[in-house]
Amino acid sequence: MITLPEDYLQEMQTVFGEELPAYEACFARDAFRGISVNRLKITPEALLPLLPFPVTRSPFYRDGYYVSAEEQGIGKLPLHHAGAFYVQEPSASSAVSLLGVRPGDRVLDLCAAPGGKSAQIASCLEGSGLIWSNEVVRSRAQILLSNYERMGIRSGVVSSLYPEVLCSRLSGFFDRVLVDAPCSGEGMFRKDPAAVAEWSREHVLACARRQLSILDSAAEALRSGGTLVYSTCTFSPEENEGVIRQFLESHPDFTPGELTESFGRPTGVSCGIRITPLENGEGHFAAILRKTGDASPWGTIVSGNLTKSEKQAADELLDIFRELPHGRLKLQGDKLYLLPELYPETAGVNVIRAGVFAGEFKKNRFEPAHSLFTAFPPSAFRRVLALDRDDPRAVEFLNGYEIDCDGDKGYTAVSYCGMVMGFGKCSGGRLKNKYPKGLRTV
Ligand code: SAM
Repeated sequence: MITLPEDYLQEMQTVFGEELPAYEACFARDAFRGISVNRLKITPEALLPLLPFPVTRSPFYRDGYYVSAEEQGIGKLPLHHAGAFYVQEPSASSAVSLLGVRPGDRVLDLCAAPGGKSAQIASCLEGSGLIWSNEVVRSRAQILLSNYERMGIRSGVVSSLYPEVLCSRLSGFFDRVLVDAPCSGEGMFRKDPAAVAEWSREHVLACARRQLSILDSAAEALRSGGTLVYSTCTFSPEENEGVIRQFLESHPDFTPGELTESFGRPTGVSCGIRITPLENGEGHFAAILRKTGDASPWGTIVSGNLTKSEKQAADELLDIFRELPHGRLKLQGDKLYLLPELYPETAGVNVIRAGVFAGEFKKNRFEPAHSLFTAFPPSAFRRVLALDRDDPRAVEFLNGYEIDCDGDKGYTAVSYCGMVMGFGKCSGGRLKNKYPKGLRTV
């Protein structure tokens, strides 16, 4: 059994009151686990019968489910490789429910890696609008990008910028902003006992200062009339209610938002909820804030005409796709991208990825990228090798082997249960495997 610091237990007395012993008793039980379904790839109705383990519905997100603590190897399942779901602690999905994303919205996820909430936002956008995922730590932004590709996010941008830099350049651009802030992680104590050793009051207070500074930036990126959701995976009142109160004091153009969700326990602010192990989640706080005023139109979004070489690139894509995908083609050096329609090409904002990396010209030959295939459904492609749930070629493909393929010669999408998980080059009854080495299961 974990020993919790005395200072921490005193703080928790203010959060749990007479339920404190019940909270402490939770440390003897398994942590909660869950998945969130990715509607860019599959509906929950279609996915649930395919899953090789039982799930139960989570109250925190319309597409969230609990998975038993005993299930092993979920991340190695072909369904996971195909982007059907994201493994996510159930209460962590609550913040996106509060954000209320609608198709067509422009959404900023300011502290985004590894990408669970970005995956949810993209799923709620249903392929329309724009999601911009920023992660200040570069190495973590790469993990975010890899999750983007697995989930098949097309209308998205990944960047690794300081919040103040990004938000000042995109002032007033976003309809919704999520700040899932770095925190003291008290909600992680049951999953990760090492986090307990790092806990101190000084750390809590330092986190609160950093959270306020990130929120200042977020406020700038939000348009008038837009919605800001602040979340943490900690219970600390300083990092939660305290941050919200201070933010509202220093931002008279913001008001507390109205809670319409029925989950979680009330908090010291009317616009926030807290989920603890007593509500069947590891630990999350989320609050809604609204920016007053009417929507102000943002400057123009650049949409360029195709250059001659981009037209050549379009011809190459027409050998792979049934028809040219929506989005703007952009050639940068030898690399071809499909930009999101709402992408604001803003001077001074360097991004890691905008839209889909489609491929590269090498000595005048076009080599398509893995991410080009995972971003589209099987119906988009001229050639598809469709594998069903029990086809042994699915695992062989994910392991990097050549597999049988009786289709026409050329680049071929490989789909599993109706979701594209990669591609290969078909010739003479065999498919040369192009599944990226770093993603292979062996
Ligand atoms: N939203 C993510 C998800 O659902 O997968 C989890 C985000 S995690 C709670 C907070 C993130 O904030 C971390 O990835 C961390 O690297 C990042 N971060 C750390 N310091 C930061 C800062 N000063 N400004 C912005 N983000 C920061």
